[in-house]
Amino acid sequence: MSLAYPQNKSQQLFDPRRWVRSLASMDRRKKIRYALMAFGVLALAPPVGFLAQLFGGSMFCGPLCPRMAIGMDFLRELSSRTAGVILLFIWFGITFFFGRWACSHFCPVGALTEFGSKLVPNRFKIDYAGIVHAPLFRYGFLIAFVGLPILGLGSICCGYCNLSTIPEAFGVLFAPLAGTGLLMGSRLVSVVLYGGALGIAAREGRGHCQLVCPVGALDSLINVIGARLPFTFRMRVKKDNCISCGVCVEGCPAHAIKMNETNNVPEIDYHRCYQCRQCQTDCPTDTFSITRLKEGAS
Ligand code: SF4
Ligand code: SF4
Ligand code: SF4
Repeated sequence: MSLAYPQNKSQQLFDPRRWVRSLASMDRRKKIRYALMAFGVLALAPPVGFLAQLFGGSMFCGPLCPRMAIGMDFLRELSSRTAGVILLFIWFGITFFFGRWACSHFCPVGALTEFGSKLVPNRFKIDYAGIVHAPLFRYGFLIAFVGLPILGLGSICCGYCNLSTIPEAFGVLFAPLAGTGLLMGSRLVSVVLYGGALGIAAREGRGHCQLVCPVGALDSLINVIGARLPFTFRMRVKKDNCISCGVCVEGCPAHAIKMNETNNVPEIDYHRCYQCRQCQTDCPTDTFSITRLKEGAS
């Protein structure tokens, strides 16, 4: 199995003309998605992070992190993190009813590495979801992430948390002196690992989303549960439209689409799908749409 994903071999390193061309020809859905992702970065990541600053933080971490209450005086700590709990409820509520819009269209952490990955030519990127069973890996990581603070090892979680490391490393670009702590021990390892290998060097910059993000893992579980209910909206397949060309399978950055061996039409794995809408853009026959579970769409 190839490590890298389908790519254009003639692609040049840091080719600004290619970026301008691809921006001009970009599909409307993607333009809207990128605009919302940029808003998420301004709202929750340094150096601006205006929403985080409202609650005394400078990023998607610290006072906004409910995980930090685990292993401490849980209820008291949680009550001092009300903004983070509310944010998480809104995030997961959107996912339950409408799918993973927050991860694909708003999260500043996924956005930073996805934007950063545009600097790396596709031939150097790694397609992690095609190599390992990403959901299993991520759920295992979630168990460790919740279990370690109970054992009094919560500081390890912070040291190896993509949600704290990636925005912090981005913020250092604007305030280099603030980054001395990032250059030591586990923090440096996680910057290189999450920002580099699992970040900008990953397919669509989403390797850390697929393998190690604790919020992403919970979000996927809620996505799967909600997808089974008739009143929720998800990316779904209108089987009758499909001509079985396989373009969607190749194009899905999360490896969430497989062809059903019996009828040769696609099926979506909601443990993997983060509702990026690439399949909607790629499919020549409008087989994908965000809709409720109903006859003709599964
Ligand atoms: S998986 Fe985690 S880092 Fe990725 S978009 Fe979702 S919350 Fe953000
Ligand atoms: S791209 Fe569209 S037509 Fe082709 S296999 Fe996928 S759903 Fe079917
Ligand atoms: S391409 Fe489609 S199936 Fe794949 S992650 Fe994006 S929305 Fe989900």
